Amino acid sequence: MTPDTSIYLHIPFCKHHCAYCDFNTYAGQEDSIPAYVEALIREINFVGRCITEPSNHQTIELSNYRTIKTIFFGGGTPSLLSPAQFDSIFKAIRTNFNLLEDSENTIEANPGTVSLEALKQLRKIGINRISFGVQSANAEELRMLERAHNFFDVIEAVSSARKAGFDNLNLDLIYGLPEQTLPTWQTTLQRIVDLHPEHISAYALTLEHGTPFGRWSSKGMLPLPDPDLAAEMYEFAEEFLESNGYVQYEISNWAKRNAEVRVQNAESNSAFDIHHSSFVCRHNLQYWQSLPYLAFGAGAHGYANGYRCSNVLRIKTYIERLANHKLPITNFQFPLTPATVNHHRQTPRDEMSEFMITNLRLVKAGVTEAGFRSRFGRGLFDVYQKEIGELIQLGLLEYKQTSEFLKNSEVLRLTKRGRLLGNQVFMQFIE
Ligand code: SF4
Repeated sequence: MTPDTSIYLHIPFCKHHCAYCDFNTYAGQEDSIPAYVEALIREINFVGRCITEPSNHQTIELSNYRTIKTIFFGGGTPSLLSPAQFDSIFKAIRTNFNLLEDSENTIEANPGTVSLEALKQLRKIGINRISFGVQSANAEELRMLERAHNFFDVIEAVSSARKAGFDNLNLDLIYGLPEQTLPTWQTTLQRIVDLHPEHISAYALTLEHGTPFGRWSSKGMLPLPDPDLAAEMYEFAEEFLESNGYVQYEISNWAKRNAEVRVQNAESNSAFDIHHSSFVCRHNLQYWQSLPYLAFGAGAHGYANGYRCSNVLRIKTYIERLANHKLPITNFQFPLTPATVNHHRQTPRDEMSEFMITNLRLVKAGVTEAGFRSRFGRGLFDVYQKEIGELIQLGLLEYKQTSEFLKNSEVLRLTKRGRLLGNQVFMQFIE
């Protein structure tokens, strides 16, 4: 039985391409938004038909992929779409899939791009979570990142979202910025906590190859904090957010602690409730638990029916491929579409490796022997004894009885040091 599925929709439009960003996003192509929305709807309809009219060579039961528990509009800047455009996409999803009543439906938005009126309409359509790309509360740091907003826009955006009825907000931050100091990072965190978001993400700046930041850094032109200071910033965030009522459930993500949830969790003795009931991002949990998600849009990556697949990057080509395809639907193995350019059939070993890498990101839930066995029919230590043993020796993993979420169960998870050196841990599970 396939677990419920999620949907990711990529909206690759931005008003300006920021110098540090390597996402598949384009500035100055907003004229293409109406045609792009049409193409998205075509792709949704296409996959919907693949599920209802599977081709002869489809051997698995596809109907379970119809049930959708989360939707995420990422980008890019999804808030550049109008409420009417979101409405038409939602209608297509509801026509083709069974969207659960309590689904989590998120859009990413940049502060300064959403009016109160638009937010009210989005809430009415069914969006119930917003993730604002704040990055910093410091004017100079925002200028360095080439972000168009200031912190007053953030205050305004949060206030408007609350007025529009949103009770689940994420604020995204980046640390380790050029010329950032520990005090400016501490001030950013304080200002963010003062806005009482339900969820906070904090990622270290990564210098991606091919971005202006990557080039400037390789020429020594970017005054970045040294790695020790970046680690100090991360450790400060862990302690500060914990002491302000946020639970760190993933390496870079915190959700507001919720007393009601803890009680419920203690009674049910299950890790699932803490994921389902509190403000953890249920959509991202789908990724971190290695569960299926369908992906629509230019450059979108999906995982379903044993395939990892990705779509063509460019907006124009994506639109053309959805408009002009001639092949019958039976030529496509679900979830591939005319926009797919890469796909890979996962081997059992791939699945196990990805399961370890993604689930270990969940710093509380981690990986259990029972969870691994029920997924793969093999023991965790039968497969990874050597790797786990070495990482425990290095002090990067621990295998312990946990009292917090899973009573009577031992959990393999990252240590405090392991959270700082996550990539070193994950490398061990790559084949
Ligand atoms: S607004 Fe966000 S997605 Fe767009 S270019 Fe800047 S960082 Fe990238």
